[in-house]
Amino acid sequence: MSTSPIRVTVWHEYVHEKKNAVVGKLYPDGMHTVMAEAIREHLGDNVVVRTATLQEPEHGLTEQVLAETDVLTWWGHAAHAEVDDEIVDRVHQRVLEGMGLVVLHSGHYSKIFKKLLGTTCSLRWREAAEIERLWCIMPGHPIADGLTDEFFQLEQTEMYGEFFDIPEPDELIFVSWFEGGEIFRSGCTWNRGKGKIFYFRPGHETFPIYYDANVRRVLANGVKHVASQRSSAPVRLNAPCIDPPLSPIAADHQVDQSLH
Ligand code: ZN
Repeated sequence: MSTSPIRVTVWHEYVHEKKNAVVGKLYPDGMHTVMAEAIREHLGDNVVVRTATLQEPEHGLTEQVLAETDVLTWWGHAAHAEVDDEIVDRVHQRVLEGMGLVVLHSGHYSKIFKKLLGTTCSLRWREAAEIERLWCIMPGHPIADGLTDEFFQLEQTEMYGEFFDIPEPDELIFVSWFEGGEIFRSGCTWNRGKGKIFYFRPGHETFPIYYDANVRRVLANGVKHVASQRSSAPVRLNAPCIDPPLSPIAADHQVDQSLH
């Protein structure tokens, strides 16, 4: 495994801050800059962080940027449909090749998340500034490293509730309880190809979620965790026919090549 710094690209649609006064006041330089700071704050010299936004050419996700990205974080909400399908395919391919992906909050409905998971990723929601308690149900998981209690609490959040239409997670690290009664699987991981995905629920734009110490810690832990599969081992993604075989095969078998 490489010991060089994790190369992180924090991607943000960067729309709400410019149109909504509450969001603009909370995040005057955009949510992406605050998320980038949180990652640097916790990972220090072990990380190099850049940001990219929807408005940049190729949404800031050129072939070169993605080739130089070990972990991509994704926040989108109002402009999912404006993300070019070609860029989505490019990100998808990179995840299968081993790039880590951290999808945040309303990114549950992004093209890239739905494409990777293959389900609707629908959920129920309500914005009522209610309390959320995120219970850690895998306290031994690296993503929970540094938390000091069995749960952490956000005083005012948007609610996301079950049923969350996702494939069963490989790991379920956090389950949220909401003041209004719902529960939600709010910290999940999946493997796709050689890549690892972490979905983390908090992040509604009208509350100061990305200034919360626990959220910042889990975000950074998540980045570190999905990058942990950086390995030089090859991955084949084009269903190759292995002929000749690695060892001799006794059978005399005629292949109808027209079937392949
Ligand atoms: Zn939201």
